[in-house]
Amino acid sequence: MKEKLEQIKTNGQYRSLRSNTQDGAYIVLPDSKEMLNLSSNDYLGIASNKKLQEEFYQTIAAESNALRLSASSSRLLTGNFSIYDKCEQYLGGLYSKTALIFNSGYHANTGILPSLTTNKDLILADKLVHASIIDGIRLSSAECIRFKHNDMLQLERILKERAHLYEHVWIATESIFSMDGDIADLPKLVQLKKAYPNVMLYIDEAHAVGVRGKRGLGLCEEFNIVSDIDFIIGTFGKALAGIGAYVICKPEYKEWLINTMRTLIFTTALPPINLHWSLFILKRLDSFEKERTELNNLISLFRKNVHFENTISQSHIIPFMIGDSKKAVEKSEDLQSKGYFALAVRPPTVPQNTSRLRLSLRSDLPIEEIKKFLTLLD
Ligand SMILES: *Cc1c(COP(=O)(O)O)cnc(C)c1O
Repeated sequence: MKEKLEQIKTNGQYRSLRSNTQDGAYIVLPDSKEMLNLSSNDYLGIASNKKLQEEFYQTIAAESNALRLSASSSRLLTGNFSIYDKCEQYLGGLYSKTALIFNSGYHANTGILPSLTTNKDLILADKLVHASIIDGIRLSSAECIRFKHNDMLQLERILKERAHLYEHVWIATESIFSMDGDIADLPKLVQLKKAYPNVMLYIDEAHAVGVRGKRGLGLCEEFNIVSDIDFIIGTFGKALAGIGAYVICKPEYKEWLINTMRTLIFTTALPPINLHWSLFILKRLDSFEKERTELNNLISLFRKNVHFENTISQSHIIPFMIGDSKKAVEKSEDLQSKGYFALAVRPPTVPQNTSRLRLSLRSDLPIEEIKKFLTLLD
């Protein structure tokens, strides 16, 4: 292990945990001054909104069990406090389907595919899907082929040649990709599903929920295809500023998951207070339109900048490509010394020689500071 760790250091891929404190869009690390936080997933600034937090604590003070900090058992035992039903009902209503809540996006993605797929199935996953989807595929007994990132021609070719050989073919992808900020061709996927009746669509909206769509339900809402997608995964941990995740699907799948999904059954449920917070935020989703507009204004500012004119990003996640891991780390450190916290993302999180600063914009970034930041890139 020691030798391997040295190797990781030599490659500029060493990771460590650093404690921090945060205030609004600013972050302080040990031995650093206050820096603008360009690496957080608090896309709408909700997690740092103290007023909203205060309002929340007042709202729930009188509700029974709401302040409880543990569910004390799995949802299948006694952990299923009534707030779970309320939250799932509300979510289901938003999407006009059924919802099931999990402890995290990681739990959702490592549990759903193994529960629903069999060795008579094929999973077709985009080359750049999140590690949690890859782990879910590893745990499933289905065959798997990874198609080139967003390559709809290759995907269609595989379907043509192989779809008839399987009971079901699951296409798994993200709607907004977490490292490049580009988006999947969701309308094309729906078209493929209609052409191949045994195709199931599994779309991870972790980065799109809260941010995209008229009501903030994600890209499937934006493209008006919610009813065509078999499984939409949303998470509470990013823009929605909480913890947990959910799937939107048909009721019969929910019933199956409750009976077979190991990462739902064999884990302690989230504490009620977290579910109350999620419901509190979901009920206000419409009201964050101002934040969504501010975020879009920031995105426009970046895209007008010479360094991002040709970016493949189509969202608030915008990579500043560097290539070499060590150089990426150096650039990140240089920017930190100037008051901007933009972390380098390196292999194995991204492919070899594509190290970059992963800039994730948030609605509460001060425009003047961002203009200054853009002049520091070269
Ligand atoms: C963050 C993320 C997850 C994991 O969600 P958690 O709730 O943080 O476990 C899953 N999928 C994608 C695409 C993500 O970006």
